Amino acid sequence: MPWRDHLDPYAIWVSEIMLQQTRVNTVVPYFERWMNMFPGISELANSTEADVLAAWEGLGYYSRARNLRLAAQIIMNEYQGRLPGDVKELIRLPGVGRYTAGAIASIAFKADEPTLDGNIRRVFARLFDIRESVDTPSGEKILWTLLNAELPEGRAGDFNQGLMDLGATLCTPQNPECGQCPLCGICQARAKGVQTERPILKSKPIQPHFTYVGAIIREGNRYLLVKRPSQGLLGGMWEFPNYRVVNEEAADKYLERLMAERYGVKVKITSKQGIFKHAYTHFRLTLQLYNVKILTDNLAVPDMCWVPADELLNYPMGKVARQISKTLKSNEKRQL
Ligand code: SF4
Repeated sequence: MPWRDHLDPYAIWVSEIMLQQTRVNTVVPYFERWMNMFPGISELANSTEADVLAAWEGLGYYSRARNLRLAAQIIMNEYQGRLPGDVKELIRLPGVGRYTAGAIASIAFKADEPTLDGNIRRVFARLFDIRESVDTPSGEKILWTLLNAELPEGRAGDFNQGLMDLGATLCTPQNPECGQCPLCGICQARAKGVQTERPILKSKPIQPHFTYVGAIIREGNRYLLVKRPSQGLLGGMWEFPNYRVVNEEAADKYLERLMAERYGVKVKITSKQGIFKHAYTHFRLTLQLYNVKILTDNLAVPDMCWVPADELLNYPMGKVARQISKTLKSNEKRQL
């Protein structure tokens, strides 16, 4: 794990934010690229939002990248460019919660603070055979109490990293390798043979499915991209104009009306480009995409830009828009 070579609190902070909701193997190349592009807090504070979104593209949960940049600006303005080492101060920074603050304070500043990520949650739920759902407030309370009780004074960083590594390597969600585990002798779930039944998690709601209709608008060899609002899913990323519709069967019928309503633009569908599907964490989507001709002069859509096909991939985008851009780019090449 390349961040283990860095004693710099900034590198530890970046790695902890990247590791939220993302696996170690996925994070490694992103971390290395990020540290080359933004080697310190001042470089990150002076970057643009587009720079950080481009560096983050593919990792998901893009608010993490925007929050890192915002927090870097706060650190430059309020903490003389130095990451604070106190949990209470760390939690004030955008994107830093109790878990991340504990991890940074213990690893980077040797503070006696516990932390609780998904790996530690699983390891402790097994070690202490916790029979309550550990992703509920009462389950989390039990875990924090146990972690505080077990924390070795002066070694919290090692303790936290050891537990995280154990969860990432041996005490994995499926098939934990108990025979190789250094804690095998004291693991209550293992002693009862219920290790694969822990942790207990509350049941997940069924993922909803949404249908979207989208427009490829072309002028010469350039395509129209619009920027998403800076808050929310894929905030600040670029995409092709699209809208959520209720009736999958009649998606195309809505497109002309929606373009007129939202942007005051009169358009006509000329052909169907294709269907694109993607599953986010909380919902699945199907995008029906059409080639569209603009019938209005003076197109003035807020936050729009016209982009040549061979430059589409330079813009920060979510997975679906990226997939469409690749298709358009390869179509252009074929036509040359
Ligand atoms: S003995 Fe098995 S279940 Fe218990 S902590 Fe070790 S790997 Fe996990």
